[in-house]
Amino acid sequence: MDLCYTAEEDTFRSELRAWLADVLPHVPPEPPTHEWAARRVWDTAWQQMLFEAGYAGINWPTEYGGRGATPTEHLIFLEETERARAPYVGMNFVGLLHAGPTLVVEASAEQKAAHLPPILRGEHVWCQGFSEPSAGSDLAALRCRAIRDGDHYVISGQKIWTSFAHVADYCEILVRTDTDVPKHRGITWLIMPMDSAGIDVRPLRTMDGGIEFSEMFLDEVRVPVANRVGDENDGWRVAMTTLSFERGTAFVSELLQTMELVADLAELAKHITRRSALAWDDAGLRRDLGKVAAELDALWALTRRNISEASRTGLVGAGGNVFKLAYTDLRHRLGEIAMHLLERASLSMDDIDELPSGRHVHGRIHGLKMTIAAGTSQVQRNIIGERLLGLPKER
Ligand SMILES: Cc1cc2nc3c(=O)[nH]c(=O)nc-3n(C[C@H](O)[C@H](O)[C@H](O)COP(=O)(O)OP(=O)(O)OC[C@H]3O[C@@H](n4cnc5c(N)ncnc54)[C@H](O)[C@@H]3O)c2cc1C
Repeated sequence: MDLCYTAEEDTFRSELRAWLADVLPHVPPEPPTHEWAARRVWDTAWQQMLFEAGYAGINWPTEYGGRGATPTEHLIFLEETERARAPYVGMNFVGLLHAGPTLVVEASAEQKAAHLPPILRGEHVWCQGFSEPSAGSDLAALRCRAIRDGDHYVISGQKIWTSFAHVADYCEILVRTDTDVPKHRGITWLIMPMDSAGIDVRPLRTMDGGIEFSEMFLDEVRVPVANRVGDENDGWRVAMTTLSFERGTAFVSELLQTMELVADLAELAKHITRRSALAWDDAGLRRDLGKVAAELDALWALTRRNISEASRTGLVGAGGNVFKLAYTDLRHRLGEIAMHLLERASLSMDDIDELPSGRHVHGRIHGLKMTIAAGTSQVQRNIIGERLLGLPKER
């Protein structure tokens, strides 16, 4: 493990920092969260700017439009863009952080040439069709069926919690191609064009008022066999590659945002009066925030350790699960601290007077979501217990 930056990495950082300082003042303001058409334009325009400047797909191969840099430079990129408050990946999330990295490792040369450059140029938005109503934590129980018909798979079934399905061009979808074998062995990973006939996307409104998720009903959707990634019935292994990326680097920007949130909460506490004293005078609050800040530093070190491991092995190992569990637990506790600080204002999704309650209430709900997305905390505990600590397997 090497946690030091090389001279080349320091140069990369300073060049990136200068470029961000130059371009960010010209980026138009972010559209409201739920204006999807405007968001698509904004998210993909930023991706296009990154591509043109050579900052798209930092650690993706150069032959497909990436920069061909190291995972450490990718980490520096995430760190600098977050510190400069540059736009986040937004609806390019699945393409850039899940499907794309999986294609880099698992896809054929033709598939890579067809899909990686448009993701990097911000032309294609992807979604992830893994979860089903009865297959979330137990993903291998998925039932969405694909039957081979000549050069096509014909897919029928249902997916749920499909983020960005209503704006996506492609879906990385897991389907059942064999029902006569143990459940992990009958799954296949396909690239499904979202304009295929037979796809019915029904957005789901969540408690924060948004419709980021959808249910997806599939009725005899024909997907070419040429869109299969990996072998037929080998999709579970391919999916584990995807989830490893998801639990590895996909949360780095989140972590950095949370560091800012802690600093903002400390600042807020210095301006809020509680029972004729400043909230900041409460030693308990200072201790709780200090503990969270220290844990965030530890998680940053763990991130760098995980990246160091990925530099050697190409994949993030169980350190990704440890990070996911610890980070989302911390984020949950931070939400509680914020609600405690805001008192009655924590009941409002909108700002009240001078208090930025809307931001913190949304942050609190986001923290809850994060304990479920990409594998729940209980599932992370199972993986860590069994794979890292060698505890007996769950029955
Ligand atoms: C913000 C967000 C974005 C998402 N985006 C997508 C997406 O784009 N595409 C997609 O396919 N899915 C997506 N999901 C779905 C997500 O992957 C699932 O919600 C998650 O895997 C949990 O599955 P479930 O909701 O079916 O819960 P369940 O699996 O039904 O779990 C219910 C409860 O039981 C617990 N539990 C289950 N099994 C065990 C066990 N073995 N041991 C102990 N406890 C257990 C769980 O921890 C949980 O508390 C998203 C979810 C969220 C919150």
